[in-house]
Amino acid sequence: MKVVADLDVCIGAGVCVLTAPKVFDQGADDGLVRVIVETVPSGEERLAREAVDLCPSGALEIVDED
Ligand code: SF4
Repeated sequence: MKVVADLDVCIGAGVCVLTAPKVFDQGADDGLVRVIVETVPSGEERLAREAVDLCPSGALEIVDED
């Protein structure tokens, strides 16, 4: 499972980072989301899914679902 982020849509709310800090980070310069893993580790999939659902802007999308 992979997650992609649309930086044109992200508003830097940080909900994703709080929810799944091993998958997401925020850019120090712009506060926008960074996906920090190539593939979401199996132990982090539930939290990553939760973060995608909770993102207020809809910037996150799950791709390559197994
Ligand atoms: S929760 Fe959504 S809007 Fe907030 S930083 Fe993450 S991707 Fe951006």
